[in-house]
Amino acid sequence: VLTVNIAPLKSNQQIEGYVYVLHDITEQHKLDAMRKEFVANVSHELRTPLATIKSYVETLLYSDVDAEYLKRFLKIIDSETDRMTRLVKDLLLLSKMDSEDKNLKFEHKNLNEVIIDVINRLSIEAHKKNQKLIVDLQETPRHVYIDKDKMEQVILNLVTNAIKYTPENGMIKVITEYDENFATFIVEDNGIGIPKEDLPRIFERFYRVDKARSRELGGTGLGLSIVKQIVELHKGEVNIESEVGKGTIVRVKLPYQ
Ligand code: ADP
Repeated sequence: VLTVNIAPLKSNQQIEGYVYVLHDITEQHKLDAMRKEFVANVSHELRTPLATIKSYVETLLYSDVDAEYLKRFLKIIDSETDRMTRLVKDLLLLSKMDSEDKNLKFEHKNLNEVIIDVINRLSIEAHKKNQKLIVDLQETPRHVYIDKDKMEQVILNLVTNAIKYTPENGMIKVITEYDENFATFIVEDNGIGIPKEDLPRIFERFYRVDKARSRELGGTGLGLSIVKQIVELHKGEVNIESEVGKGTIVRVKLPYQ
């Protein structure tokens, strides 16, 4: 998209020429459209659980509900409240990282230890689905320079996704590899996979392959965009390979410094 400003150059009432100023506003339009889409998405994502909560609360207030239904409705209200809390937490995290003051606290850390901490927290989830959680960590020659909390969030989001999108009895592998310049960790699963056409957009905020499934599993649609943003703040790279029905491999490559 181009806008053109034309200003005639005059001398003694006679036009001697024109100055054309061309502005390329494609980027600006794109940013505007993205911002609008983001606000619409946030509103929608917040309204959906609110509408559910409201309707169950109204039923409880104005109808006679027996004990069994009372419990069932309260459980739904509870899980929708949890989803809103997660959503607001994810949005705050993203907005903090968007702002000037990112407030990252870098320190030298053993990546293997950070991974083991997160895996210990998640092993119960995998166990509930009878999934095999394999951890294969190469001995690290050097410490990585990371914001530990943020990197924990990256590992948490990736392993949580692997657990969520892999059926019962599946397998999840977490691997580290170290070379001269990079520390790499890989989260691999043999779950449902991602269709090829969705892969290019998978790191966008609120992009999901299957909205209903993501919601059902408690997702916010922000997990991978948070991963990408944090990894890039560490000057690293994240990429994803996937095949429907076979599984997904996410690789995060971090420079040591
Ligand atoms: P969500 O909260 O929906 O899980 P994410 O940003 O973490 O959001 O992921 C975006 C979408 O990518 C998910 O909705 C899901 O469709 C797909 N996805 C992410 N990780 C995996 C995976 N390991 N296997 C299959 N699909 C995945």
